[in-house]
Amino acid sequence: MMVHEWVIIRHAQKFWGASGDFWQAQWDKFLNVAGEDPMFLWVFGSTVITFGVYWLIGGIYTFMDVTNMPKVIRRYKIQPGTNEPVDNKKLMKVIWSVLLNQTAVGIPFSFIMYYLMTWRGFPGIRELPTFHWVLYELAILILVEEAAFYYSHRFLHSKHIYKYIHKQHHEWTAPIAVTAIYCHPVEHIFSNLLPPLLGVFLMGSHVATAWLWFTLAILSTLNAHSGYHLPFFPSPEAHDFHHLKFNNCFGVLGVLDRIHGTDAAFRQTRAYLRHIMMLSFIPPRVAIPDTQLTKMKYWQMQHDLKQQ
Ligand SMILES: [Zn+2]
Ligand SMILES: [Zn+2]
Repeated sequence: MMVHEWVIIRHAQKFWGASGDFWQAQWDKFLNVAGEDPMFLWVFGSTVITFGVYWLIGGIYTFMDVTNMPKVIRRYKIQPGTNEPVDNKKLMKVIWSVLLNQTAVGIPFSFIMYYLMTWRGFPGIRELPTFHWVLYELAILILVEEAAFYYSHRFLHSKHIYKYIHKQHHEWTAPIAVTAIYCHPVEHIFSNLLPPLLGVFLMGSHVATAWLWFTLAILSTLNAHSGYHLPFFPSPEAHDFHHLKFNNCFGVLGVLDRIHGTDAAFRQTRAYLRHIMMLSFIPPRVAIPDTQLTKMKYWQMQHDLKQQ
């Protein structure tokens, strides 16, 4: 190896080492105030973080949906003309259902999760894991969630049980961000809570890693349901298409949809061509416009849905 490569590696190590010290120092400061009671951190801490992220970021999206402002965002709508502005009555119904899931289901569930973690064992609260370990763990958490979400979600779509549980979440054929966990409580447990928590349990994650993961998972699902394909954001086209068509795109990453062929219809659409992270401010619908035929299909579909 050349001398200058060694220098680069040494600088990188120093950088991560220094940033590790920085985060450990912040964590120490936080624990000095919050205390080190694991139950308080796992149950109360997780509840505050998941509520906070959901309603803070969800609130910004909802502001855009209710006011149609700022105007510049309109051009990034995936299904133009839907929820512009959103119906207040429908929105209130969503908010109540989400709050019910977060409190009546979410809080008891985080107690259960805490007892399961205690039984399983988790690392000491005071010392943060290393940066590399967090990255490694996040990769595992993402894969476990993909499998658990894909199969539980597909199961919810099976003919005989769809109408009892998952139909509620699909009332929104053009979803908005806060509909992310608008669903039946049973669905909230099996599709929203278990998939991300299963990996945390298997890996025996540090509580801080779990918080980071919950934050990322919530941001991801808010974006997936937002109805906006914004520049420099991961593409929400696949899950938006799932809400429009019901029978395609069950996963988060799309890996299992590809393996099982449950993205076959999606791959025939213009939305599939737009299913990339946009690295400029050009709206996806301008970069890859609808053809006359896809426009007609789209309006026919909207028409059919209204007839149902
Ligand atoms: Zn959804
Ligand atoms: Zn579904």
